[in-house]
Amino acid sequence: MISQTNLSNTTSRSFERSQEIKKSGKFMQLCPQCGEMLKFGIEQQDLEKQTHFPFPHVIIHGNPVHCLVVYIDAGFKVRGSESASSIEIKRDQDTFGQLIKKWSNPF
Ligand SMILES: [Zn+2]
Repeated sequence: MISQTNLSNTTSRSFERSQEIKKSGKFMQLCPQCGEMLKFGIEQQDLEKQTHFPFPHVIIHGNPVHCLVVYIDAGFKVRGSESASSIEIKRDQDTFGQLIKKWSNPF
C-alpha cells in the first residue's frame, strides 16, 4: 500500500522531494523473452496517478532492445506479464528528452 505517513510528517522540502522520486515497491519478474530476472521499482508519483488496477508497467531492456510489460494490482503485487519485441520509439525531441530524464533518474 502507498504510505502517506512519511510525506505528511515532514516539513523538510528536500526530504519531500526525495520521497517524491523514490521508487516504491520492489519487484522482480522473469522476462520470458531473454530469460533475465528483472528487478524494478515504481516511482511514488506514478503509483499515486493510478486509478485502475492492475496497471501496466513497462521495463525496456536488453540487446536487442525489447520490453517486459508487468501488471501491478492494488496490493502492489505482479499479477501478470508479457514481453514485446515489436517496439517503436518516436524520433522527436520531446520523446528523446523524456527518455533521457527517465534514464538519468537514480532511483
Ligand atoms: Zn527481456
